Amino acid sequence: MSAASEPSWRVTLADTTLDEREEAAAVEVLRSRWLSAGPRTRRFEMAFAERLSAADAVAVSSGTAALHLATRALGIGAGDEVVMPSLSFVAAAAVVALHGATPVFADVRSDQDLTVDPAGVAKLVTARTRAIVAMHYGGYPADLAALRALADRHGLLLIEDAAHAPVVHSADGVLGTVGDVGCFSFFATKNITTGEGGMVVARDPEVLARVRAMRSHCLTRSTWDRMRSDDTDYDVTGLGLNYRPTELSSAIGLVQLDKLTGERARRRELVGRYRELLTGVAGLGLPFAGRDGDSALHLCPVVLPPGADRARIRKALAAAGVQTSVHYPPTHQFSHYRSRYPATRPLPVTEAVAGRLMSLPLHARMDEADAAYVARSLVEALTRS
Ligand SMILES: *Cc1c(COP(=O)(O)O)cnc(C)c1O
Repeated sequence: MSAASEPSWRVTLADTTLDEREEAAAVEVLRSRWLSAGPRTRRFEMAFAERLSAADAVAVSSGTAALHLATRALGIGAGDEVVMPSLSFVAAAAVVALHGATPVFADVRSDQDLTVDPAGVAKLVTARTRAIVAMHYGGYPADLAALRALADRHGLLLIEDAAHAPVVHSADGVLGTVGDVGCFSFFATKNITTGEGGMVVARDPEVLARVRAMRSHCLTRSTWDRMRSDDTDYDVTGLGLNYRPTELSSAIGLVQLDKLTGERARRRELVGRYRELLTGVAGLGLPFAGRDGDSALHLCPVVLPPGADRARIRKALAAAGVQTSVHYPPTHQFSHYRSRYPATRPLPVTEAVAGRLMSLPLHARMDEADAAYVARSLVEALTRS
């Protein structure tokens, strides 16, 4: 499958579990001859909402589209400040900035808990603050109880970037449904993949209705509806975009959603094996210890020993056929953000941990022997570096 120029990995960082079930679903869509959003999209939304015990959900074309529409539907705009972790994918910061609002970067809790620190967020709240973004790093819940309380105390909105965490029942509720909005991603490497795709849930049905309208240019009737009726009139009731998913992606998403529970069990075995083999390795940190039961287990991050040469370790692992990654280069250090949105307070934990973070392979096509091979390769690379 991989292109000739790609190295041939023995264990890839991520993989999909696509098989004949998704193939059959895709073929059925092709034979229906309607590829854009349609009845399968609606079925995917309802199935996803049900798994979250949410009233409804809106499927969109990516996780970024989900964040873009959700923040717009909440009314985030010019002059607003939105506090968010710097240690995240850039999407939330970008959509906030595109609205003319200011992303304000907060630190994470510790090298054991890479989610945003509520006490740090509290210190960043000003008269202009409109919202807080909680990101469930690697699928592990952010401290939603504390963030929700903080948001309520100051009259702020709480946005959950749940790109890593579809269908996670945490002590504080189902991830994505505790905040005012929850945004999910179905990119190629995520727990559920549809190639590209996303989903929005919202506490307030009016917010979700705005997301649904804006997904398709605020048209009063969709092409799908107009195709099936004599009445082809429509009105435009607001500003929107085309962020619709497709019937193909929705059909694949329905199958992927069905596989999620089984895949998560496999991920849990793999992370368990990593912890068994790597706990106690000198200087190596394994974040989120004891919290795997409460996680989507999207990523398996490790914190390399202080002073370890990450580039060399990653190269040694690559030579052994083990693909790794870094989640994430902190957003406030990217050139675009450094100059325009400099951190207003120091982010000591993020800055200390950022250079030492590395993600190990984790996906449901791996077996325990793969995890053992990765762990052994990492220990060897650490010993030699
Ligand atoms: C993947 C991801 C997104 C964006 O999702 P896309 O579907 O790639 O647009 C947003 N936030 C986080 C934390 C992500 O990992």
